[in-house]
Amino acid sequence: MKHLLRTAILATACLMLASPVLAAEKVRWKLAMTWSSTLTPLASAAPRMAEMVAKMTDGNFEIRVEGSEKHKAPLGILDMVKGGQFEMGHTASYYWKGKDISSVFFTTVPFGMTADEQYAWLYFDDGNRLQQKVYDKFDVYSLPGGNTGVQMGGWFRNEIKSLDDLKGLKMRIPGIAGEVFAKLGVNVTNIPPGELYTALDRGTIDALEWVGPSMDIKMGFHKIAPFYYAGWHEPAADMQFLINKEAYAKLSPAYQAILHAAIQAVVFDITSENFDANSRAWDAMKKEFPNIKVMTFPEEVIQAMKKANDEVMAAYAAENPEFKEIYDSQQAYLEMARTWTRISTLHYLQTAEMVK
Ligand code: CA
Repeated sequence: MKHLLRTAILATACLMLASPVLAAEKVRWKLAMTWSSTLTPLASAAPRMAEMVAKMTDGNFEIRVEGSEKHKAPLGILDMVKGGQFEMGHTASYYWKGKDISSVFFTTVPFGMTADEQYAWLYFDDGNRLQQKVYDKFDVYSLPGGNTGVQMGGWFRNEIKSLDDLKGLKMRIPGIAGEVFAKLGVNVTNIPPGELYTALDRGTIDALEWVGPSMDIKMGFHKIAPFYYAGWHEPAADMQFLINKEAYAKLSPAYQAILHAAIQAVVFDITSENFDANSRAWDAMKKEFPNIKVMTFPEEVIQAMKKANDEVMAAYAAENPEFKEIYDSQQAYLEMARTWTRISTLHYLQTAEMVK
């Protein structure tokens, strides 16, 4: 009898060891997005990440994703993740520029890095370490969230023929680029994505930048503002995953690793999806909406943007040591990496165009 009992206990112990389901922790998280659920590809990142996490944990780690149509606070994501109402967020770092100016570097800055250069800086140089240093102040982890690639310079009701045409213009343009335009006489504002069309339609703004053809065309901006300018201000806008530190600390090391793996997978996914969606939308746009006038800013305007941008960055660097540290790191990396971009990507494109 004693022998039988011992065998039964041993068998139960073996069963417990062999069956991870018995030991699996149940975790229920919520994630808030800046985007409404229909604003794909940006709004694809979080649900796909959540789906991967659920599959890799047999459904035990569940992340419920809320679009801005539900939580109604598209520009409140950092506060909500910091405060713990949501364990995670999917948004863009430069929306927190009013809280910490150094946040801009982890989305994009005018005349800055391409996506290749930025990811190399983030993952293999100092970028992600510096990013976390900024976000430690908010008790959250901040991780890359997928890249839009080069963004378009925006939709304008009227053609910009000279610097004078910028004076008094009312435009939605966030980040450092907004400050650059403000220096050039533009009345700058940031408006949440869901309100952009109405603001343009009602004349609250005369111009706006949003993302690129795939996300812009479905918003309908071209019906009101048909001058579509090529980009200068967001050469590689990276999105952002935010994680509440306290919630993260309660996860097992395995769940933490699964979360990181899923985030990393969707970063690649969303970057590729943006490129694919933009190429297709650009191709379709030319056929379906011949009224759209694709423009580049006059050189006089670009030169003035660059000068104003350098002044804005230098002023922040002079007053804020952390901003300076990140700016210097990015500039030093860019100076090194751009020589490679030039001879690899740029030279290749010129070579291929030459024999087209
Ligand atoms: Ca943008």
